[in-house]
Order: sequence, then structure tokens, then C-alpha cells
Amino acid sequence: MSDYIVLVKQVPDVSQITDNAFDPETGTLIRTRLASVINELDTQALAFANYMKKISGEADGQIIALTMGPPMAEEVLRYSLSRCADKVVLLTDRALGGADTVATANPLAFTVRKIVKEILKNDNDYYVVSGMQSVDGDTAQVPPQMAEELSLPCIAYVTDAEFKNNRFEFTRIISGGSQVVAAKKLPAVVTVAKYEYPLFATFTKTRWANETEVITWASEDIKATHIGVKGSRTAVIRVFPPGKSTRKCQQLSDAKSLAKVLAESLKGGNGEAGEGAEAQAVRYVLPDKRASLLDRSFEGTKKEQEDYGILADKLKELGIKDADQIDDKARKKVLAAAGKNFHKKALEDMINGLKLTEPTFKGEVWVVAEHSDGVVHPATFELTGKARDLADSLETKVGVCLAGYKVEPMAKELIAAGADNVYVIEDKLLDVFDATAHRKAIADAINTYWPQIVLYAATPQGRMLAPMVSYRVECGLTADCTGLDIRDGSRTGNIGILLQTRPALGGNVMATIRTKNSKSQMATARPGVMKRIPSDPSRKGQVIKHKVEISKNDVSLEIVKTELGTGDVNFGADVIVSGGKGMQSRDNYEQLVGALCDGLSKKLGTQVERGASRAAVEQGFIERVHQVGQTGTAIGPKLYVALGISGAIQHMIGVANTETIVAINSDPNAPIFKQCDYYIVGTVEDTVPQLVQALGSA
Ligand SMILES: Cc1cc2nc3c(=O)[nH]c(=O)nc-3n(C[C@H](O)[C@H](O)[C@H](O)COP(=O)(O)OP(=O)(O)OC[C@H]3O[C@@H](n4cnc5c(N)ncnc54)[C@H](O)[C@@H]3O)c2cc1C
Repeated sequence: MSDYIVLVKQVPDVSQITDNAFDPETGTLIRTRLASVINELDTQALAFANYMKKISGEADGQIIALTMGPPMAEEVLRYSLSRCADKVVLLTDRALGGADTVATANPLAFTVRKIVKEILKNDNDYYVVSGMQSVDGDTAQVPPQMAEELSLPCIAYVTDAEFKNNRFEFTRIISGGSQVVAAKKLPAVVTVAKYEYPLFATFTKTRWANETEVITWASEDIKATHIGVKGSRTAVIRVFPPGKSTRKCQQLSDAKSLAKVLAESLKGGNGEAGEGAEAQAVRYVLPDKRASLLDRSFEGTKKEQEDYGILADKLKELGIKDADQIDDKARKKVLAAAGKNFHKKALEDMINGLKLTEPTFKGEVWVVAEHSDGVVHPATFELTGKARDLADSLETKVGVCLAGYKVEPMAKELIAAGADNVYVIEDKLLDVFDATAHRKAIADAINTYWPQIVLYAATPQGRMLAPMVSYRVECGLTADCTGLDIRDGSRTGNIGILLQTRPALGGNVMATIRTKNSKSQMATARPGVMKRIPSDPSRKGQVIKHKVEISKNDVSLEIVKTELGTGDVNFGADVIVSGGKGMQSRDNYEQLVGALCDGLSKKLGTQVERGASRAAVEQGFIERVHQVGQTGTAIGPKLYVALGISGAIQHMIGVANTETIVAINSDPNAPIFKQCDYYIVGTVEDTVPQLVQALGSA
């Protein structure tokens, strides 16, 4: 009989964020200005655990909800009791505050151990179930890191479950399709990507929930090894508002006006291509390669750059070229020039920083390759391009870690794309991606060669593998980066470190993060953001074979079935018309997307291809090979027309490099309207036929 430990989290209601929710000085979120709610995906996880219990037919299975947070987080536990939880546990302690994902996963894993010992009486037939990610962090790192701490299999991005032959089989999202898997052993961690059957509370249940004991533990009760700021391996160094969208976001009132825009769209200049692309910062130069050792223009924050600017100007004025020549007299003069900018202690730190020239981290810049059926994932090439850029400024080499079976032939392409060394780990058991087996292989290679930076693609595979590897090799990890730069933090003794910039709080803020307490700096980066460098087949590189013993026990999941898109699609076309769930039916999709494709093809004299959202594919409106997005194909046409598509991040990542995006949606508040160039509020049934007609006369 299985029991279920469900992770639930209280989060700020990011859908209600207004400008006054941020501190104008620091740019940080003032939590008290926002209502707290239960993380939506955790409500789905709770309902999913209840569903698992139901389909297993084991009515005695317990559901235990667990949260870590301030005392008021008790509210999400009462919510859980009023729905389906039998018992609830609150882990609360000031010492746990300010934690990154490692210092969250670690105490949660230790709490699970205590729950298993004291509540489940050491019965190991249990699942830890959680939402795929929380809206405040958006990292999806905590569940796989917990799995790593507890040495459990992790099944991420689950959308459905079946109970067959006395075990659960889970359907999960993977790149290019979906897969049915089962854990080879229990316990296991499951993360839920979508389960849209919410549970509701009855009055009786709510009364019971309010009277039921909340088991409350503090950090000393669980004896975790990594807690709070001290136990964290990353630190936020800057929070700032995201740049304004370069999309026009212009509403058009009727189909005729839209037809005109479409007719002009291929002439260029309508929209900004590559909006999702990383902003180019000035390339980093190592301190001893700069014109002067006093040049500290590569500090990580504007304030540090300004302070070092004041110091350098004054030292120049005094004819001082070296930090060792700064005597008491010079110090006084610098402090007088600094005014309120910095004081004595800070000046000493800055002077010590001036003496540093060696990068804090040593080794190559690595990319962990993703591939399937002998084909390298496009995101791996993008990361190799980025790694080349970072490695050149750090004057080191680019390594690509390629684990699988019969994968060596791919090394050539990776070298042409910018790699100096390709570390090949081959084993038959690595033929199909299994997070635990691949984690073992990659972690072993990292432990042997210790690169200073390791980059992974923020695909479902990378977002699962990276937390497990980084936790195992005891390094910090930043998720979903959209910016990666080398900079100094000379004052704090950091030279040539990787600054990792990512959106947080549902894209409402940007945060720049650095790694601490780690031997290597690790990040996942969003596909479509970094730039691939042109392939150069004449580039020379080395293939280094790395042997890792993989046994059957290292493989954690049994793959029951994999469904991947097959067939031909020309996503290189200038124009792509996609239909979403809002198309309502396969017939509608056929008729409306078909008619608009024909209309545009005639009008613009170019090839037009059909695309779709994942939801439309799941509804059976069109074959999977047409799916656009994070787990479909990332495209960059001149014109993208989205019909009945809401604009979920996983979809929009795939169209970020489009020149002009046009949307038709019946919901005036559809998120896609904030990420497109032109839109019409209206149903596809009404608007598309009018548009096709108008195109004929435009
Ligand atoms: C790990 C992971 C990976 C994913 N990868 C992808 C991916 O690669 N690609 C992808 O697309 N999604 C992906 N998703 C799913 C994504 O989160 C969204 O669920 C999906 O994009 C929603 O598709 P949709 O916009 O068609 O459906 P919905 O979000 O349901 O939106 C339908 C829209 O249609 C509108 N509508 C309804 N009726 C009409 C009408 N008659 N006329 C006009 N408008 C109408 C509605 O207002 C709504 O905005 C992924 C999710 C996860 C968790």
C-alpha cells in the first residue's frame, strides 16, 4: 500500500503584481504588498496524489502534506487537509530563511526521512509528489535535488497516471513528445506538470481541517546539513525590472486592418527579430590583460564599477600604478574623494581586490550535450557558442560532455560548433536517457576534470539532469538563464566569475545570481536565447573517452512507451500559422488554419507551414511534429500567426526569434497579447474567415 507525501508551498500571488510591489531603491519585491496563495501546481499535485490513491484502490494509503515556510504557511496545510490530506507537517524556523534550492531541497529531504520514520513507521512504499515548480522560483530544481539527497528515482513533468499490474505508470512530457514510465523501485519522487481536476472543500472537511493538529518541526528536529543562506550555493547579487518588450503589442479593430499588416509583413521592418536573444554585454577581459591593473570596469554591479572608478581616478592623479604603493596619505585622499560612496573598511577590501588577477575558478567551460537518435539538440549548439565566448574571455578551453551509446560520431559536429574537447562517455545502459544513470556518468566526468563552468539546456531533460548532477557534485545551480556573463567581484575576492541572469516571479523581475561554496559554476539556459556560432568543419578538437561503470541498478525508470512526432514539416518557411486549443476541434483546425495558410500563401507568394501549441497536439488537432515551443520546435519565421493560443511561456520560448507575431484570441486578457506585435480580440471562427476574405482584396 503506497503513501503519499505531497509538497505544498505558499507563494506570493504573482498574477497581482503591480509596480508598487517593488522597492524602488533595491528593486526587490516587498512580499507584504502581495497576497499569499497556495502554489497552483501544488494544488494539482495534491489532487494528483488523491487520484493516485483512488486508482490504486488502496483506501488506507495516507496523504501527508508537507510545507517549509514561516508560521503562516500553516494556511496551505489547512487547505490541504480540507481537500484530501490526512496529516500535515510544517517545517518552520528562522534559520531556514533566505535559502536557495539546495538549502530548500536538503531540509525537505531530511523532513521526509523523519516523516517516514515517525509517521510511516519506516514503510518505504511511498511517493513524494509535488508541483513541477513554484511560481516564485520557477526553477523546478527542488524535487530532483530532493530525489538526489534521498537517492530516489525522479519522474518529472507528469501529466497522467495509470495503475497497472500492481504499479503506477506515469505519462510525462519529454522533448518532442511524451513518454510512459514506471519507477523501477520505490520510493520515488513525482513532479506534476498538469492535472486539471481540482479538489473542492466541503464545510465539514473545512471544519475538520481547522481543528486538526499541524505537526510542527524546527530545523533542529530534522538535522539537515544545508539550511538557510549559509547552506546555499548561490547568492542573488542584483534584482532589476525586466526590459520592456520590443514587441508592438498593437490591437487592431478589424480583420481588414490586420490583412493590410499581413500583406506588408514580409517587406521587413514590422517587428524586432530575436527579441528573446541575449543582450550583448561588453566581452570580459582578464585583469592582467587590461591596459592598467587599476582598470576594474568589469565589476558585476554598477555601484562597484563606480566605486572602483573613483579609486582609479584618484590613484591616477597621485601617479600610483600599483596597489602596493597605496600608503596612508593616498588612502586619506581617496576617502576624501569618495565622500559618501565608500568608507575605510570598503576601501581596504577594494585595495585587496586590486591585487587579485587570477580567476577564482579554474578549468574549462563545459556544455552537457543533449541528443536523441544521433542528432544533437539545437540548444546544445547554442550553448557551445556561448561557452566559446565565455572560454575565450577566460582564456580557457570549451569542453562538451557527451554521454550515451554510439554517440562518438556527433563529436565532429560539436567541434565544428566551437568545442575544443569532447568528453565521450559510452555505455549501452546510457542509450536511452535515464536521469539517474546519466547523472552518474556526467557527475563522474565533472569530478574527474572539474570544469569551472557547466552549462545545460533548460529543456525538460536538462532541467531534470542539472539539479541532480549539481547536487551530487555539491555545486550551485541557476535555472533558465537568459544572460551569462563573466565579471569580477573584486571587493569580495571574486575574479572572472559567471554572472547568471534569469527571470523570476513569473517574469516580473530579473535576478543576477552568482555561485558560492562550490568548485564549479552551473546553469541551465533557455533554448533560443544564446547564439550558435557558424559551424566550421575545419576546426580541430580532441575526443577524450571517459569510462564510467554503469550497472542496471543505476537505471531508475522503466520506459513503457515513447511517443515522438514523426513526419515532415518545413519550419524554415517564412510564414507559420499555428492553431491552439482555442481552435476547439480538428475540423476547425483543418478548415481555419488551412484557409489562412492558403490565403497568406497566395497573397505573399511564399510557402506557409502549419504549426500548433502542445495543447492542440494533445487534443489531436494535428500531428505532434507540428508542435512549436520548448518541447516542440523553436522557430524563427518572418511572420507567425497564433490562432487561439494563450501565450504560455513554454510556447513563446519557441517563437522568440520571429520577426512579426500576430495573435487572434477571444480573451481580451490573453497573455499572448503582451508578447506579440498585432492582435485582434475575437473568436477564430468569426475572425479567420473575414481575414481570409480581406487578404483577397488587401
Ligand atoms: C515541461 C513543459 C513543456 C511544454 N512544452 C510546450 C511546447 O513546446 N509548446 C507549447 O505550445 N506548449 C508547451 N507546454 C504547454 C504550455 O504550458 C501550455 O499548456 C500550452 O502552450 C497551451 O496551449 P494553448 O495556448 O493552445 O491552450 P490554452 O492555454 O488552453 O489556450 C487556449 C486559448 O484559446 C483561446 N480561445 C478559446 N476559444 C477561442 C476561440 N473560439 N477563438 C479564439 N480564441 C479562443 C483562449 O482564450 C485561450 O487563450 C509545455 C508545458 C510543460 C509543463
